[in-house]
Order: sequence, then structure tokens, then C-alpha cells
Amino acid sequence: MDRPKTSSGTPHSIMEKLAVLADAAKYDASCASSGTAKRNSAGSAKGIGSTEGMGICHAYAPDGRCISLLKILLTNHCIFDCHYCINRKSSNVRRARFTPAEVVDLTLSFYRRNYIEGLFLSSGIIKSSDYTMEQLVEVARSLREDHHFRGYIHLKTIPDADPQLVHQAGLHADRVSINVELPTDAGLARLAPDKDARGIEGAMGGMKMAIKQARDETKRFKHAPRFAPAGQSTQMIIGADAASDADIVGKASRLYDGFGLRRVYYSAFSPIPDASAVLPLKRPPLMREHRLYQSDWLMRFYGYTSGEVMQATGDDGMLPLDIDPKLGWALKFREQFPVDVNRSSREMLLRVPGLGVKAVNRIITSRRHRTLRLEDVGKLTVSLTKVRPFIVTVDWRPTLLIDRGDLRRLLAPKKEQLELFAA
Ligand code: SF4
Repeated sequence: MDRPKTSSGTPHSIMEKLAVLADAAKYDASCASSGTAKRNSAGSAKGIGSTEGMGICHAYAPDGRCISLLKILLTNHCIFDCHYCINRKSSNVRRARFTPAEVVDLTLSFYRRNYIEGLFLSSGIIKSSDYTMEQLVEVARSLREDHHFRGYIHLKTIPDADPQLVHQAGLHADRVSINVELPTDAGLARLAPDKDARGIEGAMGGMKMAIKQARDETKRFKHAPRFAPAGQSTQMIIGADAASDADIVGKASRLYDGFGLRRVYYSAFSPIPDASAVLPLKRPPLMREHRLYQSDWLMRFYGYTSGEVMQATGDDGMLPLDIDPKLGWALKFREQFPVDVNRSSREMLLRVPGLGVKAVNRIITSRRHRTLRLEDVGKLTVSLTKVRPFIVTVDWRPTLLIDRGDLRRLLAPKKEQLELFAA
């Protein structure tokens, strides 16, 4: 039976542990759940939950973190001493530990009450990487096999854990992830001395192969076991070391290409209580995190190479904070504009600041039937002012606008808009 609550000391009740271990998990940004396979309990005698119908919906806390999943650590005890982590061995933080059965019970209980659509489970390292990984796998196994849980499960894998255990994680989880943590190997060696960049990338490589093999088998055999159908992802902490945005973009691009990641998440380092002396005192502006997410979209959905995104950075390798990287690139390469919306290729239309993928698709569909005017484009964008210098329509040509020296100032968002992202 749960003991009475105490405000300090070792947490004993489930709710006390939950308070500690949900708070400890909030620094991990990689909890989005897009891209999973359809799975439901309709028509079966067993099973609860579904990842379809209403689907996995995302809710976000005011700080932008996803809260639609039960997002907890199994424990915040840890034998590692990563400088940027509040749960590191030398941190004077309150500790707690769930048993696998407690996490299973909590997940089922919250799920039945419709509080969550699934579970995001990570952990500090207790005893050893293998021991910890076994405990994480046991939670997922029990949910799937003992309770026929059909909701979403995202498991963090533990650095250096036995590949067999990591494989087990993939058999039960929708998504698996292992954090690369820092954009450069030097940063990792300095701030996470117990972790090994080669080991992390080796685990990602193994996971990539296992996911591919499972997909191939699913095509050939109807009942082939699922394996991490929502793929793998990772997270990079930004602003804790000296890595520039160009370093981060380059690293993200290599991760996407080399390991087939679904997502790279960027998490602005936030100073933690009882921080290590090697860390910066201030967090980077949240706008920096936002600009990196925009650059990530340019690579994944807009056809930019990492080299082109890097061209939007300044001499210091940093993306501008006052304008988005797509506008930054367009202002540097004005000779590529204006683009004729009635004739240009999809690739060039995607380079027009202020036109998103949906808008470009609609332009391409519409222009098959009629010649587009500026007014038509205006219906597809929230900011015609931003688009106008970069396009030609049947009734509009920007003449001298594209060459104006103060174009950046004219198009940059107003100060109040930028302040929404101020640190
Ligand atoms: S391994 Fe490092 S990042 Fe993970 S919980 Fe331990 S100290 Fe924190």
C-alpha cells in the first residue's frame, strides 16, 4: 500500500514517484508520435486502444513539449555523469524509481481514462546499460503481451546495451530512439564523458538494418513481426557546447542520410539547478531552436541540401534569428528570383519565401486550368508581402523590389513577433 506523501526525501507513493519521474523526463523533446502504423482492437476479442480513428493527437505544453503521451523515466538514478543532465550521478536531485509493473499499471490506468494515447519511456542508467534496457523492454513486453495494449509506445534505448535487447525493444515499440546528445564528437566527449559517439551511431546503424529487414519481411510474409513501425529518431541538445548551426545542420543531414531517421529533434539547452561549471550560464534563445527546426524542414520537405541550408548562415556559421532560413537563402541568392508561378518548376516554387508545400501543390494544380494572378497567390499565403518580391504572375512583376538594399528589413517579422520566441 502507498505510504503517506512527503514533500522531500525518497518518494514512496506512485503519485510521488510520478511527480519526480515525469518532471525528470521533461527535458527530452523527442516524444512526437507521427508516422506509426495502424493498429486497433476492433473486431478482436482481446486488446485495448488504437493508434488510428482519432489517431495519435498531440498536445503541447506551453513550453512546446508534447504531452499526449505518458512521458516518464523508469528511474532518474544514473551511474553516468553527463554535465548537461539534471539526473547525472553528481546531481543533488531527488531520486525515484518505478518497477516495470508500476509503469505498466500507470500506463493502462491513464489510457483507460483517456488521458493519454501512449507511453514515452526513457531512463537513467541503473547498474548497467543491459540491466536498464531489460527493464525498459519488460515494460513494453508486458503491455503488449500480457495486456494486449495497442496504444503507442516510444522507447529510448540505452547506450551500449546488448543489441539483442535493443532488438527486443523494436519488436514491442512503435518508435525507438537513441540520443546523439551533442552535435560534435568533441562536444560529446567533453560533456558526456561516459558516452561514446561510435557506440551511439553503431546502435543506430543496427536499428536501421533491423527496421529495413522487418519492412522487407512484411512485404513478403503477411504475419511477419512488426518492428519499430514508426522508425527511429534522435535528439540533439543545442547551445550547451560551441557547435554552430552549420555544424548542427551538417550533423542532422548525416544522421538522416546514414541512419534513415524519421526525425531529429533539437532541444535548446536549459540551465539546470545545480549545474556543472563547464556549462554556459544562459540558455540559447528559443528562436535558435525554432530556426533549426525550420532548416530541418527545408531539408526534409523543400528539397534543400544541407550545403544550401548552410549557405543561409552567416560568417559565424549561425542562422539569422530575425528571419527564417528560407528567406535568408533567397535574399543571398536573389539572382534566382523572381519565379514565374505560372511556369516555374515545383522545385523553384518551393524556394519562394512565404509559399509552403501545400500552397505550391495548389498552384501547380490550379495553373493547369487557368493563368494565376497575384490575387490567387494571395489566397494561398499568410503573407503576400513576403511573397511578392520573389514571384511573377500574369499581372505582377516586382521590377526593382527584388534588388532593394533594405529588402531584408522590409520582410523581417516585426519585433513583437520575434519576442514570442525570446529566451
Ligand atoms: S545517461 Fe547521461 S543523459 Fe542519460 S540520464 Fe544518465 S546522466 Fe542523464
